Amino acid sequence: GGPKNLVMTHGCSGSVLKAEEIHQNDPRQRLVILGSGWGAVSVINQLDPKKFHVTVVSPTNYFLFTPLLPSATVGTLELRSLIEPIRRLLSRLGGYYVEGRADDVDFENQLVEVSGIHDSEGRKFYVPYDKLVIAVGSESMTHGVEGLEHCNFLKSITDARDIRKRVMENFEKASLPTTTDEERRQLLSFVVCGGGPTGVEFAAELYDFLNEDLVGYFPAIPPEEVQVNIIQSAGHILNTYDLKISEMTESKFKRENINVITNSRVVKVNPTSVVYKDKETGKEAEVPFGVCLWSTGVGMTPLVKSLVAKLPHGSQSNKHAIETDGYMRVIGTPEGTVYAIGDCATIPQPHFVDRVMTLLQESDTNNDNVLSYDEFRTLADRIIAKHSVLKVFLSHLDETFNKYDKDHNGTLDLDEIRAFLIDAEKQCTALPATAQVANQQGIFVGKRINILHSIENDPMAVSQLPQFAYKHLGSLAYIGGNEAVLDMGKGLVYGGIGSEYLWRSVYFSEQVSVRTRLLLLMDWSKRALFGRDISK
Ligand code: FAD
Ligand code: MG
Ligand code: MG
Ligand code: MG
Ligand code: MG
Repeated sequence: GGPKNLVMTHGCSGSVLKAEEIHQNDPRQRLVILGSGWGAVSVINQLDPKKFHVTVVSPTNYFLFTPLLPSATVGTLELRSLIEPIRRLLSRLGGYYVEGRADDVDFENQLVEVSGIHDSEGRKFYVPYDKLVIAVGSESMTHGVEGLEHCNFLKSITDARDIRKRVMENFEKASLPTTTDEERRQLLSFVVCGGGPTGVEFAAELYDFLNEDLVGYFPAIPPEEVQVNIIQSAGHILNTYDLKISEMTESKFKRENINVITNSRVVKVNPTSVVYKDKETGKEAEVPFGVCLWSTGVGMTPLVKSLVAKLPHGSQSNKHAIETDGYMRVIGTPEGTVYAIGDCATIPQPHFVDRVMTLLQESDTNNDNVLSYDEFRTLADRIIAKHSVLKVFLSHLDETFNKYDKDHNGTLDLDEIRAFLIDAEKQCTALPATAQVANQQGIFVGKRINILHSIENDPMAVSQLPQFAYKHLGSLAYIGGNEAVLDMGKGLVYGGIGSEYLWRSVYFSEQVSVRTRLLLLMDWSKRALFGRDISK
């Protein structure tokens, strides 16, 4: 059926039905979710099984707990402990899983075009939907650098397994009597391109491994021959965190002889070396490597690229993600049918300050360039009406007013207003590509479509549903040696010995099932008792 006359599936394996027949047999709305990561699973966990016939389409048949993936690269955690089968997560809903890749979406006829992952003949089929949630995540950005085929990535279980295998192989090769000094230095040099949390955590895990296990297990390798390098294009590593955290991490790495190269851009990757350029001096330098991790930010998957290109002209303008409205509905699709969440989605906030300046002039009713409390309240109401993401930020108005009224004279002058606007803008610029955002957006969409199901014919009630509001719960990164850093926003910073337990307990409580919690607990105790598993 459909425009391309493909097989139409209901999700359940083997059943091939026409779209109309499906509707007659099952009155529930057909909800199709693309992806099985953070966003998708957060939607699934909210859904009411009586209301929706749910089908998940994803090439990976499990949910992956990405924040702990760096720990799996050196055997601190088992890969199996970080995953949860998607079929298990769907069983509460009686939902269906299709192991396939969405290749295209026909927004008009409400059909997803899918190809099976293990179908060597590449046969395609349609999965029809009433509502669609796109949660396909992102891909590593290449920045047009040549030679990335020599690098490792860290996005999937396979990536972590590849890194682990290569790390262990290099240590074994370096221990052979036939290996020359120069070869050994190359094999034992690790280069991390990108100083974000993933790169930093990988470096930290490597460092722990070197300190805790290397000396005992690989006596032939002098520890000082192992070199860990991080190449970062910004002035600091962890540059989305509080500056204190970046500096703390940098000085810790310095003490540990982890070589942090900042303000430098990788220009080329050779089979066994990376060439980078200092952005200030323009000088180029080369570092040899045995393993090079490429982790320099994320961009669109091929599916997202093609969807953005086919949406009506003018509706999409972002280069990194699909643009949605404040309800996470994809701009340019038939209203209310398609949502996008997580890494693949973004809510545009163009010209925030320009637009707020107009609101500001309107709110200053007596035109004296200062805001009284009443005028400030008017401004806040107007800002919320246009930017509902700021609702939380503006929820305690008298406190907010007092906070920005630095001289406590009962009015906000221009400098005080400026400080307020700068903070407000920060709250509403593009959200980071994190599990925290994907999770909150997934919960939001799950709840919204649950409610919509009952009130869809009541436009008044629908219009009163809230928009998505992000609540930042803090950023966390493990920096090795039983230390973690936690940035709670608002200048609150925590680090130092003992913080590892905090770090673990946070992730522990976020685990999706009792099963994975148990597995993690076993891994951690196993490592404490026996050290890491250093087999490949
Ligand atoms: P994902 O979780 O990536 O899920 C995408 C899903 O879509 C996958 O199941 C994929 O198989 C599937 N898919 C892809 N293409 C298709 C297609 N064509 N059709 C159907 N399905 C498709 N965030 C934090 O907040 N804290 C952290 O500590 C943290 N640490 C991280 C560490 C690492 C190593 C990595 C890689 C990421 C980390 N993140 C962290 C970021 C976080 O994992 C992502 O922001 C989050 O996974 C985004 O969720 P998502 O649902 O958008 O995408
Ligand atoms: Mg997802
Ligand atoms: Mg996003
Ligand atoms: Mg005034
Ligand atoms: Mg004042």
